[in-house]
Amino acid sequence: MRYAILSDIHGNYEAFTAVLKAVDGMDIDDVVCLGDVVGYGANPNEVVELARTRVRVTILGNHDQAAVDPAEEAHFNSWAVQAIRWTRDRLTADSLDYLRSLAYESLLPDVRFVHASPSEPEKWRYILSPQAAAREFSTFEESFCFIGHSHVPMIVLRTEVGTSELLDGEVALPAGARVLINVGSVGQPRNGDPRASFAVLDLEDRSAHLVQVPYDVDAARAKIVEAGLPRFLGDRLLLGQ
Ligand code: ZN
Repeated sequence: MRYAILSDIHGNYEAFTAVLKAVDGMDIDDVVCLGDVVGYGANPNEVVELARTRVRVTILGNHDQAAVDPAEEAHFNSWAVQAIRWTRDRLTADSLDYLRSLAYESLLPDVRFVHASPSEPEKWRYILSPQAAAREFSTFEESFCFIGHSHVPMIVLRTEVGTSELLDGEVALPAGARVLINVGSVGQPRNGDPRASFAVLDLEDRSAHLVQVPYDVDAARAKIVEAGLPRFLGDRLLLGQ
């Protein structure tokens, strides 16, 4: 089985459709989404609708949770609060039902999917360094753990020798090794590369790699500005920051 693992689409329809088009050409069996389907971008309902038809399993993200529960805004900065209120005001009943149905984590045999951290999925903690990732390995048992949330791709390998970050965007798992992979963000990358990021997992050969796909950033940015969302949320797409 080959999986495409997406995260942090954030209502960016242009990025999501570009990624799905790439996935269509990649011999993928199923698509998984690690959450934050909405928030920041101008097309929350369109993205939910597409996720409903194209994504096999979607995990709950903190923005999805805040979209259905205003109390969760307390953890957000002012741009995120403005965007999530804008989003909540526009979500249809069907979209809200979909977001309410999402769970904190999901498992395949030997694979864990979670939005933020495997140790405390409901706390929305960020794993921003290989050192922080290293501390997570004692909190899950699977060989593969996929996360999102930071919008920055990262692959951290754990072997009997130790823990190390792999910088070339791919891993073939040696026997006995385990890996934690941040797949990056489809709709609002923050690693300095404006392209949409996701991961491909091949369970037969126990390998995974990161993929970057260009999309129409200008169109997504223009929609954000026209919608009256904070201009910064559009501008940051141009830089991938
Ligand atoms: Zn996010």
